[in-house]
Amino acid sequence: MAQDFQTDSRQMLGRLREAMAVESAGQARLDQITQLIAEEMRTEVCSIYLFRDEETLELCATEGLKAAAVHETRMRLGEGLVGRVGRTGKIINSADAPSEKGFRYMPETGEEIYSSFAGIPIQRLGEMLGVLVVQSKTARQYSEDEIYALEVVAMVLAEMTELGVFVGEGAALSARHQHPVLFRGATAQEGAASGHVWLHEPRVVVTNPIADDPHKEMIRLHEAIEELRVGVDRMLDTAAEGENTDQLEVLEAYRMFANSKGWMRRMEEDISRGLSAEAAVEKEQSTARARLSSVNDQYLRERLHDLDDLSNRLLRILTGQGSETGAEIPADPILIARNIGPAELLDYGRSLKGIVLEQGSVGSHAAIVARALAIPLVIHAARITTEALNGDHIMVDGDQGIVHLRPDDTVVAAFQDKIAMQAEAVERYASIRDKPAKSLDGHHVQLTMNAGLMADLPSLENSGAEGVGLFRTELQFLVRNQMPRRGELAALYSRVLDSAKGKRVVFRTLDIGSDKVLPYMKPNDEPNPALGWRAIRVGLDKPGVMRMQLQSLLRAAKGRPLSIMFPFVAQYEEYTQACFALEKAKHRERLLGHPVPEDLQVGAMLETPSLAFAPRKFFEEVGFLSIGGNDLKQFFFAADRENERVRRRYDTLNVSFLTFLERIVERCDDTNTPLSFCGEDAGRPVEAACLAAIGLRSLSMRPASIGPVKSLLRRTDLGKLRKVIHDARHRGEQSVRKSVEEFLDL
Ligand code: PEP
Ligand code: MG
Repeated sequence: MAQDFQTDSRQMLGRLREAMAVESAGQARLDQITQLIAEEMRTEVCSIYLFRDEETLELCATEGLKAAAVHETRMRLGEGLVGRVGRTGKIINSADAPSEKGFRYMPETGEEIYSSFAGIPIQRLGEMLGVLVVQSKTARQYSEDEIYALEVVAMVLAEMTELGVFVGEGAALSARHQHPVLFRGATAQEGAASGHVWLHEPRVVVTNPIADDPHKEMIRLHEAIEELRVGVDRMLDTAAEGENTDQLEVLEAYRMFANSKGWMRRMEEDISRGLSAEAAVEKEQSTARARLSSVNDQYLRERLHDLDDLSNRLLRILTGQGSETGAEIPADPILIARNIGPAELLDYGRSLKGIVLEQGSVGSHAAIVARALAIPLVIHAARITTEALNGDHIMVDGDQGIVHLRPDDTVVAAFQDKIAMQAEAVERYASIRDKPAKSLDGHHVQLTMNAGLMADLPSLENSGAEGVGLFRTELQFLVRNQMPRRGELAALYSRVLDSAKGKRVVFRTLDIGSDKVLPYMKPNDEPNPALGWRAIRVGLDKPGVMRMQLQSLLRAAKGRPLSIMFPFVAQYEEYTQACFALEKAKHRERLLGHPVPEDLQVGAMLETPSLAFAPRKFFEEVGFLSIGGNDLKQFFFAADRENERVRRRYDTLNVSFLTFLERIVERCDDTNTPLSFCGEDAGRPVEAACLAAIGLRSLSMRPASIGPVKSLLRRTDLGKLRKVIHDARHRGEQSVRKSVEEFLDL
């Protein structure tokens, strides 16, 4: 019996394809399809509802219902049975539709005489496009086989909708991916940019959903699966050599799927019913995506993501559509990706105007690179990779975390105003570039920049920074596939010093661990990596890499002044041990006959509250201190800097934190220890003004922040601002922000 029906479903698809091959208008095609399905299914009614907008489904074609209702009958998402299928993406199959919860008949369609109802979602990769409905007078439940056949047809319809086959008059018949869409994500790098979409991984387009010859398709699928398996095995071997356990785990899951009999069987079944190999893969992928949206279990979600990735690989093998589609990158590209690594981002470099990610986190390395390159970045823009097409016009508002895809004219006009204002501000800042950051009451605040790449160095001149207050050396390690060699590093550091032209550069030694995992180092399975084996802890326990880095720095200096800073020092002894390692490196350099800088300044980052309470002797001994506000704040409030749920919960201008920072300033003043602040907050004008008011006179920030911060400092009386902070604290305010903003007239 099932076998019989399979033939029917193939026959139905065959007829569908023939109908599609004839050149005709969108509406005529839809009409023909409904007629054809009703005939093949031997049912009185077949209707196609498509989304008119995100909330409304419109009857676009019908066989059996009143013709006058076409393009007239509409329902809201969730309304009636059709609306329910549209909202949930789940099939409804009922012999007695009027008794179903939420049933509502549309009188203009004349559907009240039909008892049975089956509604099938038309969806592509988790994106709802419409609903396919069959109805009949006799009260009968459609069989599993019939429903399956309808699913296959719905899949083909989805594919055709995607290809714009039904484009015609009426909003619901306009091609997909043409409407404006607004995405609300989170901001990871401020700034506004307008440009055109460049998909990091262009999606595969299936142009041949229906196949002639199932046997041939079966062979194609098997060959592609074999290629996929070989590829996964190869990746597994490489990962095993590198002892990369995280990657191994993912690849093991890939292998499991690639060998999964269930997955294979479902795809074979799809093919035997008339789908092409790629359509079968995509059908299963759609099912997995639909499940993904309703699964909360993290482990299961990750596995479904794995399956999704694997399906993409398989589709690329089958269609021959690689990442290289031959499309030309637009002149003003805005990169769209699910997620991206720092190395891939660096490959694009400064050519990008903006970046929008579906995933990502503010503290990730991709975000750090985006910040270093001053490219507006919005993260958590859900489903943008499904919605955007290469070449679409797109506007990214990095300040609000908003993305306008295919914006309409009013949005474009408003956005252009914003960009013009931004350009004006840049010009304004350029005019004060060579002026000092001196407050109204005469305090000079040293403004330096954070860097980590050679590409950052030109900003030293453009931004008016007085030096590099933080050079994150780990970026050089993170963007490679293997550990850089000493000679390479020495050459690079030397070029950094050359480009700085005598301005001070503070090199921070390697800060790895936590979120910064080197691809070629064995990762540690730690329950809490941010509190784990990272930064100086790794440097002291595994001295080889630190020694190599210290030697590279000493050698790069070629006798010039050098500043080295150790990250994440939590207690005095760690600092003395690190200094000891530096002494040894110096000694070795001398023995080798290399010059050692006479002016060698050695400091530490204050990133854990414990160091603020270190013995006075530490403060006397340390060459300088720099507050790593990103980490210090996360440990002070016990709020993960990468966790969007808690990250913004505690204000930097919370009086507890400011009071704590004041205590550090006092201790440094007491011992004449040079102190600076180099966390992200230093680059936010209001925060920067408050830090300066409580006595921090050296701030290191992204180059793009120097102008705005300087501009505010130059029109602020720091003495008065300090009083505003004290008064707010006195009144018992939790955060001084409101009072400060009022005072600053912002
Ligand atoms: C910090 O923690 O504030 C800091 C500057 O270091 P990173 O952001 O690299 O951890
Ligand atoms: Mg830090």
